[in-house]
Amino acid sequence: MDDSQLLQIAERFGTPCYVYDAECIRRNSAAYRDALGQRGRAFYAVKANSNLSVLRLIAGAGLGFDIVSGGELARVLAAGGAPEDIVFSGVGKHPDELAQALDAGIACFNIESAAELKLLIMLTTDRLGSRAPVALRINPDIDAHTHPHITTGRAEDKFGIPAAEALDLCRQAAASPGIELIGLSCHLGSQIDQTAPLTRALEKMLELRATLRAEGVAIGHIDMGGGLAVPDGTSAPTLAIPDYIGALLDLIGEGDDAPELWLEPGRSITADAGALLTRVLLLKHNWARNFAVVDAAMNDLMRPALYSAVHAVRRLTQGEGDARIWQIAGPVCESTDMLAHDIELPLAPGDILALERTGAYGFSMSSNYNARARPCEALVDGGDCRLVRPRETQEELFASELEHLL
Ligand SMILES: *Cc1c(COP(=O)(O)O)cnc(C)c1O
Repeated sequence: MDDSQLLQIAERFGTPCYVYDAECIRRNSAAYRDALGQRGRAFYAVKANSNLSVLRLIAGAGLGFDIVSGGELARVLAAGGAPEDIVFSGVGKHPDELAQALDAGIACFNIESAAELKLLIMLTTDRLGSRAPVALRINPDIDAHTHPHITTGRAEDKFGIPAAEALDLCRQAAASPGIELIGLSCHLGSQIDQTAPLTRALEKMLELRATLRAEGVAIGHIDMGGGLAVPDGTSAPTLAIPDYIGALLDLIGEGDDAPELWLEPGRSITADAGALLTRVLLLKHNWARNFAVVDAAMNDLMRPALYSAVHAVRRLTQGEGDARIWQIAGPVCESTDMLAHDIELPLAPGDILALERTGAYGFSMSSNYNARARPCEALVDGGDCRLVRPRETQEELFASELEHLL
């Protein structure tokens, strides 16, 4: 997406506006498909970007979906995704959500605790004859050395089943009439830029699989979750999709007995396909600091405030500007509402800026804080551009409250 195309979109749909590049999403999806070939499957982690048109595009590119809620299940089905291409992750699935997914007939439940397994067994017992395909999510106690808020596979994290308890729970699952134990899963966290933690975790999973096999329990797939890093700034990824998948497939081997490799990529499918367009409202100078106040805020893009994420800022507008080092601030009444720091650019009021690589965990984490209507979303496909979610209106934000007004 070049600058003039993005500028036209900002003019046509207004700002703030998320823009996604369909070609880039297709390319990332194809990289997973090509590298896995017949040896595995990729399930896009819907929480990264759950816009229906984005989901439809990804289904068309041949990926399945990894969901973490009933709401995401409904979205995938509404977008035309098939239930048999869906896996369900998450540490606290509500009984209603488990029932919803059982009714839909999804491919696999990634079960994260003994209590959850028990609940699923109860639900299948209530539905005579129904069997739930299950993978147990193991916590391998491996630190993926990413940001503490996005690492999930250490002993102190809430996710997964401790490796020491996994064998017993696998035996129990395999012996339960309503359960079909088909896989083992794990997910170490996000922004992983080296293969070592992943291969160490995979070794543990393969060991567990071998032990189960010796007891007559066959495990068809190993799901290594998602988490491949996409740098927020301008630097290139340190680990490319084919190398990452190659390292895992090498370890799995190719024999008749080899399990399928399942993956759950989120960020690496949509992050670099998206930009958040925002307009400079005004420039101000507080003592030594220069602030460019823009019309996007932390409610639209939460990552800088939540994880200190650094997104590159591109000035799309041409022309004269005040060349300084700018702090890019949103209008929300919080000191943490800063979108970027120390940006060296010539800026003028009315300029249009693009916050880059914001296609994952951007809109999907947005909120209505400060009673702000959330941005619109647009999809570019070659020369075509269409609105795929209109900007929210102020009225629709409180329409249901009016119906229940005191
Ligand atoms: C969030 C999540 C993913 C996707 O992680 P990315 O870093 O976006 O690739 C995959 N699997 C599970 C279980 C998750 O919670």
